[in-house]
Amino acid sequence: MSQNEYGVVVVGASVAAEAFATRLRELDYEGEILVVDRDSRMPYERPPLSKLYLTSPATTEIDVEWHETVPVTIAEATDVDADASTLTLTMATSGSARKIKYDKLVIATGATPIRLPIEPEGVMRLRTAEDSERIREAAGEGQRVGIIGAGAIGAELATSLSTIGSQVVILDKADRPLERLLVGHLGADVSSWLQSIGIDCRWSADIVSIEGKPGAWSVMLGDGNRLDFDLLVSAVGARPATAWLENSGLLTDGQLLCDPSGHVLVGSERCENIFGIGDVVTRQLDNGDRLRTESWSAAAEHGIHLAEHVAGKEAGEAEVPYFWTDVAGRKIQVLGTLRRDGAIEVEFENPARGAILYKVTGTDGSEGWIGINAQPRIAMLRMAR
Ligand SMILES: Cc1cc2nc3c(=O)[nH]c(=O)nc-3n(C[C@H](O)[C@H](O)[C@H](O)COP(=O)(O)OP(=O)(O)OC[C@H]3O[C@@H](n4cnc5c(N)ncnc54)[C@H](O)[C@@H]3O)c2cc1C
Repeated sequence: MSQNEYGVVVVGASVAAEAFATRLRELDYEGEILVVDRDSRMPYERPPLSKLYLTSPATTEIDVEWHETVPVTIAEATDVDADASTLTLTMATSGSARKIKYDKLVIATGATPIRLPIEPEGVMRLRTAEDSERIREAAGEGQRVGIIGAGAIGAELATSLSTIGSQVVILDKADRPLERLLVGHLGADVSSWLQSIGIDCRWSADIVSIEGKPGAWSVMLGDGNRLDFDLLVSAVGARPATAWLENSGLLTDGQLLCDPSGHVLVGSERCENIFGIGDVVTRQLDNGDRLRTESWSAAAEHGIHLAEHVAGKEAGEAEVPYFWTDVAGRKIQVLGTLRRDGAIEVEFENPARGAILYKVTGTDGSEGWIGINAQPRIAMLRMAR
């Protein structure tokens, strides 16, 4: 192949890409794999960015074991021409545009934080190592920090910044924390854990406007109250990083839709040599549903299964959905499918360790588990499935 032609090109050098490249090598693929990422610090792990990397800032916390035969090239992908099988890159070193030809293209560009329409410039967000370092620099002993959004990242941030001595207020329009992850279960418990470490929780918060600048923010609430902060962080969710694909013709309803084996679908047509893995993907399930995940385990699983598919192996069975988060000194793990209307019961308890395992059984027969400091039990359940 010429200098500008590659067998496999991967855009994004994170969890999904790492799992894909490592598995492909394990399956004896010896061709060149070009991986590009626009973030000059990649590869690194994201989960510590809201946890240990904020409280004890050692870079080892985010180190990744990346396959030595798969170098990461720092470049931004700006377009794909699916008919010509070419990818356009802007190279970080020169700033110049380069067009490369691929046999197989894997899109693994993850997600980018959502910005609320009322958010002025200067409100921080957390997705990259640089974001985490900026938050850490601005926060600290006695700083008044407002966190908008009490999903996993917001609740973890609140925990970490409170640990380093910031005065944290967390606000969410929902009436409890971790609403999307726990779909209504254990909201009062999580809320009391956050309060017990000194976090001021404002649920059902109606933010009408945000004024100010870094160092002096005012958040106006619908009930007439005003909250003042030195630092304001928005953690209201993330959307798939597909903006660069807008002219490619690869998006369906604005989504990078993929079939269960990872092929990109354009309408009902399947692209034979373009694939998607990780947070960027919306999966078209056989039952007609569409599913998008934002989880380390799902991204890794997508990568492994795609490598097996590309290598002509039968891909392993889909794993049971899994997510973990560390909130207010507790490890919260969610396994399986939680239904809002599901019946929740305690399946195991060890008060001495603060461990408890709940089972949530949906009216449709679905099963899910919530573990609080119950890592061994969740590990056993994962192995059994
Ligand atoms: C702060 C934080 C904490 C988290 N904690 C947990 C947790 O506790 N448990 C859990 O299960 N999950 C957690 N997650 C989620 C988990 O990290 C993600 O699900 C996972 O990183 C997704 O991996 P990915 O490979 O799909 O994409 P990403 O990790 O998002 O990486 C995508 C990469 O693509 C690059 N990219 C994007 N666009 C372009 C382009 N046009 N050209 C070139 N490169 C591009 C980006 O720079 C990025 O490096 C957390 C996420 C964050 C941000």
